[in-house]
Amino acid sequence: MKVFCIANQKGGVGKTTTTVNLAAGLAKVGQRTLLIDLDPQGNATMGSGIDKRQLKLSVYDVLLESASILEARAKSEKLEESGCGYHVLGANRELAGAEIELVNLPRREQRLKAALVHAQAHYDFVLIDCPPSLSLLTLNGLCSAHGVVVPMQCEYFALEGLTDLVNTIKQVHANLNRELQLIGLLRVMFDPRITLQQQVSDQLKGHFGEKVFNTIIPRNVRLAEAPSYGLPGVVFDANAKGSVAFVEFAREMVQRVGGSKEKAPA
Ligand code: ADP
Ligand code: MG
Repeated sequence: MKVFCIANQKGGVGKTTTTVNLAAGLAKVGQRTLLIDLDPQGNATMGSGIDKRQLKLSVYDVLLESASILEARAKSEKLEESGCGYHVLGANRELAGAEIELVNLPRREQRLKAALVHAQAHYDFVLIDCPPSLSLLTLNGLCSAHGVVVPMQCEYFALEGLTDLVNTIKQVHANLNRELQLIGLLRVMFDPRITLQQQVSDQLKGHFGEKVFNTIIPRNVRLAEAPSYGLPGVVFDANAKGSVAFVEFAREMVQRVGGSKEKAPA
């Protein structure tokens, strides 16, 4: 079981879209996948077809040790039928309170990691959708993970924000989680017609070389429309160019970090 955080301290950069579509893409190529929503906004939960207002148990209960992951996980029927089914440990506004409740608890940044031990045998991949902050919730994600995937838009200030994130990853690596690595930077919402985006993309390659994923996720309205149907873009419109790119990215992830052998399509 490999655990990855999808993180970037900026909001609206494509973290949730990446988490949900990578989860569906991994499922499509035969990986047993669990998505953990660590953002109180619950967008990844809703975008996976799970109503955050109806959750009986959520990641909140897991962090406070009143439920296990296997008890609290949910799955969407629609997703299961699509052949891209993955499980979801959901979140809703209740999770915002966990931040405060955790502060005075022992091992406050290691709670998710401890809970994941019991899910070990059940999944090939665990993807954690992080909130747009470097909070105690994000720290729980980073302490649980083998690596971080950073979605980013190729815009002027993108590189600046990256320095903070890279430093945080280094600090967590040094003090809390020796396994943590930067797996790669994923260029998202990319529009090749915009010269500046090409320039920033080239700069990224110059600075980070191999750490930049080969796959580029284009700007594609189908990916933005899909969440209102409670489906990842990859399922909602499998032929849209954004969806095709995410499945390609799932394959690149499996190649880069290893997974279970790809199953032949049914
Ligand atoms: P974050 O989780 O980082 O806040 P989101 O994944 O929610 O970011 O994305 C922010 C907005 O951009 C959402 O409205 C989403 O639908 C849209 N979006 C994300 N990726 C794409 C894409 N490749 N093409 C078009 N719209 C996108
Ligand atoms: Mg989000």
